[in-house]
Amino acid sequence: MMAQPKNVVIVTHFKPDADALGSSLGLAGYLKAKGHRVNVITPSDYPDFLSWMPGSNEVFALEKNNPAKLATASGMIAKADVIFCLDFSSINRIDALEEPVLKSQAIKVLIDHHLEPENFASYSLWNVQSASTAGLIFELIDSLGEKNLITTGMADCLYAGLMTDTGSFRHNNTRQKEFSIASELVGAGANPHQVAKNIYDTNSIERLRLTGFVLSEKLKVLPEFRTAYITLTSQDLNKFSSQTGDTEGLVNYGLSIKNVILSALIYDRGEEIKLSLRSLGNFSVNEMARNHFDGGGHRNASGGTSKISLEKTVEKFLSILPKYKNELLKN
Ligand code: 5GP
Ligand code: MN
Repeated sequence: MMAQPKNVVIVTHFKPDADALGSSLGLAGYLKAKGHRVNVITPSDYPDFLSWMPGSNEVFALEKNNPAKLATASGMIAKADVIFCLDFSSINRIDALEEPVLKSQAIKVLIDHHLEPENFASYSLWNVQSASTAGLIFELIDSLGEKNLITTGMADCLYAGLMTDTGSFRHNNTRQKEFSIASELVGAGANPHQVAKNIYDTNSIERLRLTGFVLSEKLKVLPEFRTAYITLTSQDLNKFSSQTGDTEGLVNYGLSIKNVILSALIYDRGEEIKLSLRSLGNFSVNEMARNHFDGGGHRNASGGTSKISLEKTVEKFLSILPKYKNELLKN
């Protein structure tokens, strides 16, 4: 399939995180080294704390209300021989790119680690045991016997995806394999200190103040459901000049409370209401996101969206908790 130079498009999910963007840039670097023409297309912008990633300046990112950009992206997708779909398992996660990707005659390859993938790809490299898509990209390149093609920049991008999707090697998806991939990437030139600094320690003061506001005013605990939740209106976010990515990580504070095993962040991001859900142990936020919020993800980390108002979404979230009470208490 890839023996001759091909037109390749790599797409990843809306509001890409470090794993989405890092795995895409890592794969792009490899395919370019093999002589392919590669375009990375994202359905939206990405957080500023990822703009250090080598190759990110060549990413074609769609913008809200910019039909000209969508038309250009659709053209690239129509001309592609192969489309790699990275770090998502539901096609609606690529937003406006869904239609051109589904229409395209290109061979579609899914590389992902989310639960229950939809059937839109011709080939898939799919492993829910893998903590990150970036790790799957490393394993793919390694299995082809070509890890010598991994540059320092590619190694940093892949390491970033692995580091963030494991919560810095703390989540229960962190296997021995994640450490061995990390070790290989450091061997290929990744700099763990610099990557961590670029991602975690480049906050704006507004972002830190937003965190302070959330912790002191917005974090609610429902001990009877072992649940914590945070809601943020668009006014709250505007007050702290919130940028893409500024809410990332807030949901984890809920889970850091003793005895809490379900944490939710529900916020108004303008075009829709977004939910981030996290859990500990057997309680499946994937099931909750899928059945109630048109979303999905992993058992202990999922997300979803809602088309009703923020208040109504919060009401809905609170109203389904009693249904899960037994499960929340037995875990
Ligand atoms: P986050 O809460 O950090 O946005 O996402 C947590 C996990 O859920 C990630 O693995 C992400 O890919 C997945 N996820 C987030 N939002 C959605 C969504 O709207 N739909 C689906 N299917 N998965 C999502
Ligand atoms: Mn991922």
